[in-house]
Amino acid sequence: MLRMDSLRVRYGEISAVKDLSLKVSEGEIVALLGANGAGKSTSLLAVAGALKPAGGHIFFRGVEITGMAPERVVHKGIAMVPETRDVFPDLTVLENMRLGAFVFRGDHAGFKRDLDKMMALFPVLQERAEQAAGTLSGGEQQMLVIARAMMSRPKLLLLDEPSLGLAPTVVDRIFEHILHLKSSGVTMLLVEQNASQALRIADRAYVMQLGEVAASGSARDIALATDLQAIYLGHETTVDGHADA
Ligand code: ATP
Repeated sequence: MLRMDSLRVRYGEISAVKDLSLKVSEGEIVALLGANGAGKSTSLLAVAGALKPAGGHIFFRGVEITGMAPERVVHKGIAMVPETRDVFPDLTVLENMRLGAFVFRGDHAGFKRDLDKMMALFPVLQERAEQAAGTLSGGEQQMLVIARAMMSRPKLLLLDEPSLGLAPTVVDRIFEHILHLKSSGVTMLLVEQNASQALRIADRAYVMQLGEVAASGSARDIALATDLQAIYLGHETTVDGHADA
């Protein structure tokens, strides 16, 4: 469904993604892991069209989308939930959901159908439909941005750090919702700092370090890899195997 070939992304002089090749197949959850600054968010932003790659190629369902404008990428069937979790704070939950459906404005029946589906999946949003989004808790805002992204009927959802800053019980609930979305047929590329949590729900994973892939494999193999901590935390491993901060 998604393929990145030797992707490179720069911020001026800074080379944030140096060489990233990865694949996401239909129906999978693929986790993109790595320490702070590894280049994970940058990679997602490049897929979403928010950053123009300096090199390499991105293909979605066999069509090259490298450098495509963000709204065209949404039309193709890719939605992104950025880590900034930016709701429109003064608009209600319902109004936020409506904005997520901008691709299909005019399709009132379709909007109602999608809305009902999302409200069934996230009952707390139904309860708070008329509440200003800025007054929701962090966990509720995370649910709202995921549900809002789903209103564009994506085939592929790019999720950036959905667990960021949330209490463990709330994180569990968010990850349960992500699994429900998967069972409804959505494919996902999931960026997470919370590696163990992400590996519990992912099918496969890539570990990035300094803009490149340091390891990849089934989520199970990556979870069992003894050197994961060293790669993930960016720590050197000493000869006796202990992480050396
Ligand atoms: P984090 O989890 O901390 O967000 P990440 O793996 O998602 O980490 P990126 O946010 O993609 O990492 O950042 C990769 C590199 O690019 C870092 O060195 C970062 O400082 C740099 N970078 C990110 N955004 C910008 C920007 N807008 N301008 C300049 N450099 C940036």
